[in-house]
Amino acid sequence: KEVIRLEHIGKSYYIGKQEVPVLTDINLVIAKGDFVSIMGPSGAGKSTLMNILGCLDRPTRGSYILNGKEVANQTDDELAYTRNREIGFVFQSFNLLPKLSALDNVILPMIYGNVFRNERVERATKMLEMVGLGNRINHMPAEMSGGQRQRVAIARALVNDPSIIMADEPTGNLDSKSTREVMEIFSHLYSMGKTIILVTHEDDVASYASRHVILSDGHISQDFRGALS
Ligand code: ADP
Ligand code: ADP
Repeated sequence: KEVIRLEHIGKSYYIGKQEVPVLTDINLVIAKGDFVSIMGPSGAGKSTLMNILGCLDRPTRGSYILNGKEVANQTDDELAYTRNREIGFVFQSFNLLPKLSALDNVILPMIYGNVFRNERVERATKMLEMVGLGNRINHMPAEMSGGQRQRVAIARALVNDPSIIMADEPTGNLDSKSTREVMEIFSHLYSMGKTIILVTHEDDVASYASRHVILSDGHISQDFRGALS
């Protein structure tokens, strides 16, 4: 079953009337439960592609079918709704709210849903236990290491049970031990059948993925399974 289908996706920026193409003719199908790394040199268009995949931005042309539904032409409100239902985000800089505990950061995405307070606490606690932070649910972000903060962010990304996890350089601010801990969580999520899309420029991080998509100059230059050469 496919969760993502991009057909002839293009994205351009305009400087006055001058078109600056950033993505040209991207074609990509991602199956449910796949773990895909997106790699490529700086400026290749990885962030632009992630913004489109994550429904944060619309393509200039082409079709994006997400879980059977065309989203390329959705309005901002529709995109926001799609994004909140379908996608969990993990960022390089964690993006936790500093004045909220780990538990309250994880609860936050549930306040827009129809979930009662008791169940919110229960689900958030379960997610924090899953990322190995069951004993730190009341810690504030400033009391935690980078690796711990990123694991809180992963718990937050998962709490509404999205079909896809998108992570943009999730280990970019972490030491090697925390990087391993975080990537082992992604491996665990993969084994549980989550679809994961990971942008990284580190081969040892990308090697946790089962499929590798290489972008260069705004198009996919390689797309393969198995080990990175
Ligand atoms: P990557 O994430 O692979 O480093 P990006 O997607 O950030 O690449 O950028 C790809 C290209 O698009 C770069 O040349 C960048 O300068 C350009 N670009 C990105 N965002 C904008 C923008 N808002 N306006 C104009 N050009 C942009
Ligand atoms: P991890 O288990 O995520 O690798 P570390 O070994 O880096 O964590 O950190 C051990 C402990 O030190 C953490 O439980 C945390 O409470 C504390 N700690 C680490 N880094 C920081 C930091 N930058 N600010 C506050 N506390 C920290």
